[in-house]
Amino acid sequence: MDIQKIGIVGAGQMGNGIAHVCALAGYDVVMNDVSQDSLDKALALIDRNIERQVSRGKVSAEDKADALDRISTTLRLTDLGSSDLIIEAATERETVKQAIFEDLLPHLKPETILTSNTSSISITRLASRTDRPEKFMGFHFMNPVPVMQLVELIRGIATDEETFAACKAVVDKLGKTAATAEDFPAFIVNRILMPMINEAVYTLYEGVGNVKSIDESMKLGANHPMGPLELADFIGLDTCLAIMNVLHDGLADTKYRPCPLLTKYVEAGWLGRKTQRGFYDYRGEVPVPTR
Ligand code: NAD
Repeated sequence: MDIQKIGIVGAGQMGNGIAHVCALAGYDVVMNDVSQDSLDKALALIDRNIERQVSRGKVSAEDKADALDRISTTLRLTDLGSSDLIIEAATERETVKQAIFEDLLPHLKPETILTSNTSSISITRLASRTDRPEKFMGFHFMNPVPVMQLVELIRGIATDEETFAACKAVVDKLGKTAATAEDFPAFIVNRILMPMINEAVYTLYEGVGNVKSIDESMKLGANHPMGPLELADFIGLDTCLAIMNVLHDGLADTKYRPCPLLTKYVEAGWLGRKTQRGFYDYRGEVPVPTR
């Protein structure tokens, strides 16, 4: 199946990056969000991020202009009806994602492929609520999308080979590398990464270290490019908590219990960089640890 037009639902941290790479690769992109502010910010960010690539000589000014021309935005989900491929990248909550697919279905072409960028939610369960479980799969980009090389492709139990091949061809055209994961909670990357981040929050909660010592220890002692708490802020603490809950519920093992301190930060609305405060406070010139 030849994919030309991609509909992206959710214009947050991930949606804007997905729109950026798809438009640069030559796809027509329609981006939807429930918030006009999110759409405006996403467009401004895409412009800024591609401009950075232009200044580094990685993208020509002409390709930038063409890519921006290929992106349109809309508050109406129905405007995504003519897409060949849908990539859903809205908030990590199953009810939100289910409602989006339910609202989209009556407007789609029968051959449109549905995918979700979910970090953890069952692809099989999301697919089972649609009219096309065989044309549904997980399309999991990493953050920041323009920089990170990997895309996890996750087949639901019913996903057919034609759908997988079409999505794999998109990953190839984006110049990225696909890894296939089975549809179990949090797939591969987050199954391994999130318990480590959660353990870092426990280490903070129990007073073994503070924000600075924990992040420095993992950067200098384990050669991680970012400390786990810095990374949690980058991902979004609400997303981290949602993934831990999916692991805990889905695998029924107490080793995945979310740290109460992570829950507390989310309850406070301190969600990390996107709200200017998380394990660090980003409102000043330099990030300041909050504990
Ligand atoms: P975000 O909070 O930055 O953005 C979510 C966006 O979805 C917001 O702009 C919000 O307005 C919009 N939204 C909410 N309900 C909607 C609806 N009904 N219709 C349309 N738009 C709606 O979140 P994010 O970090 O971009 O994460 C989005 C998805 O990507 C989640 O499923 C998350 O698990 C996944 N993901 C996140 C990361 C990461 O590092 N943050 C990495 C890989 C995958």
